[in-house]
Amino acid sequence: MQKIVVIGGGIAGLAAAYHLSKKARQENLPLEVTVLEAANYWGGKIVTDRVDGFVIEGGPDTFLRSKPWAVQLCRELGLEDRLQGTNPHQKNTYVLHGQRLRPLPEGLTMMVPTQFMPMLRTGLLSWPQKARMGLDFFLPSRPLDGDESLGNFVSRRLGRSAYENLIEPLMSGIYAGDGDQLSLQSTFPYLREWELKHGGLVKGALAARRLRARQSPAAGHPAPGGVSSPAGVPAAIASSANNRSIFLTPTNGLAEIVDGLTARLSDFGVDLRLNAAVQRIEALHDPANPPEQTSVPAGRYRIWLEKGESLSADAIILATPAFAAGQLLAELDPGLSHELQAIPYVSTATVSMAYRQADLGRPLDGYGYVIPRREGRKALACTWTSTKFPHRAPQDSALLRVFIGRAGQEAEIPWDEAGLLELAKEEVRLTLGIDASPLLWRVFIWERAMPQYNIGHPQRLERIEAALQRWPGIALAGNGYRGIGIPDCIHSGQQAAEYLL
Ligand SMILES: Cc1cc2nc3c(=O)[nH]c(=O)nc-3n(C[C@H](O)[C@H](O)[C@H](O)COP(=O)(O)OP(=O)(O)OC[C@H]3O[C@@H](n4cnc5c(N)ncnc54)[C@H](O)[C@@H]3O)c2cc1C
Repeated sequence: MQKIVVIGGGIAGLAAAYHLSKKARQENLPLEVTVLEAANYWGGKIVTDRVDGFVIEGGPDTFLRSKPWAVQLCRELGLEDRLQGTNPHQKNTYVLHGQRLRPLPEGLTMMVPTQFMPMLRTGLLSWPQKARMGLDFFLPSRPLDGDESLGNFVSRRLGRSAYENLIEPLMSGIYAGDGDQLSLQSTFPYLREWELKHGGLVKGALAARRLRARQSPAAGHPAPGGVSSPAGVPAAIASSANNRSIFLTPTNGLAEIVDGLTARLSDFGVDLRLNAAVQRIEALHDPANPPEQTSVPAGRYRIWLEKGESLSADAIILATPAFAAGQLLAELDPGLSHELQAIPYVSTATVSMAYRQADLGRPLDGYGYVIPRREGRKALACTWTSTKFPHRAPQDSALLRVFIGRAGQEAEIPWDEAGLLELAKEEVRLTLGIDASPLLWRVFIWERAMPQYNIGHPQRLERIEAALQRWPGIALAGNGYRGIGIPDCIHSGQQAAEYLL
């Protein structure tokens, strides 16, 4: 019997454990799988609160349809019929611009404008700024070795104002990041491919649109980063051509997937342990093969829990945030531990607030709005949840969700419930004219939640992979490495499981 321990019971860890135990059953493999989770609940960043007819998501609220791993998992768990798209009837997204909400222009393809008239009409850019965007047609592609920041890249193609007013709020909404730090290669590699292959972003986006129309008029395309930005922006970007939502979620919230997974894991006999924070991992060296010769000849490890207990394992999947994985490996491999802990994470919070329809200062006729960094607000975006998902609030009520916290701004945020609630109320008062007190509210604080794939991230991943070669039977999964969206995290768990199998 081979013992595999998964550390971390977020979506990546649960997906890894599911893949292992499913394969063990299908192929009659002698595997014993344990999942250790520090918290007293499963799902990590996926938390759904259901109260008084409201469905309130604390973390993610949808996942991308076109990255197949989440839909496939839902199918296997019998949840496919419960998946719903976002409201097809009121798909507006707004951008805060000079304290006013202006509609995001139509015709963006994977964030890049591809329609002339909506860009001419938009109030988000001045005439000279629009003309500067047009230069993208004529600028040669820049031969570059290596990586470049997202901000730099988009600014040199479309102009700084187009970046700051239009593209930055869409992009940084996804990572809560700073576009001038984020690695183009790790976040939106297709943009650079468009430049190299088609000679510009608009030409590349037009080619992508034509290809998509030829391949399948009804199919969504991958949103950048695989995550919906808070106000559901990629759904708006997906554009008018089809009503088939590119983002999905189970009727009663994403926790349905977590519940489905844990139920299935219990059926498969997986040992599921909550309140089981791991403290460190020790290699059990074979005395006949001292560590100088090979790191772990037998591939066996001892996992020490904070409570003082320990478990032995033949293999381990570390499905915690990268910095936590780094801490667990500190004694085993200080170099690897350092690399893992060097991946920065940004803290964020969501504040959901319910109001009577009568208390709203304006109709919530869309998915919400995003806030460019240059507006100087502490909030990043506001989702109009009860419009995006009409069934998630009673009929005469409205549910809003304010996102707070982005890279470089963390020191300015009061990271406590009362302070965050005040900040969210101030945001909706200023922008939406809502003065009333919310009927109910929920604050979720996510400390070090959003990994930042900054410049140098791809090289760091190479060093991490090289270091892992010394530790047979240890694999990594989760949002810290190659994608932060739920489908990516599921995929990372499956890949870690496959590697060990
Ligand atoms: C506010 C917010 C909104 C988002 N919106 C979307 C969205 O709409 N769509 C989308 O696709 N994605 C979204 N994301 C991203 C997505 O939710 C996350 O990237 C994903 O859920 C991360 O899953 P994970 O399993 O990698 O990590 P986590 O969910 O962080 O799970 C890791 C687990 O490891 C546990 N752990 C840590 N240390 C230890 C230890 N020492 N011992 C044992 N256990 C430990 C933690 O308690 C945690 O449960 C959002 C994220 C946030 C924060």
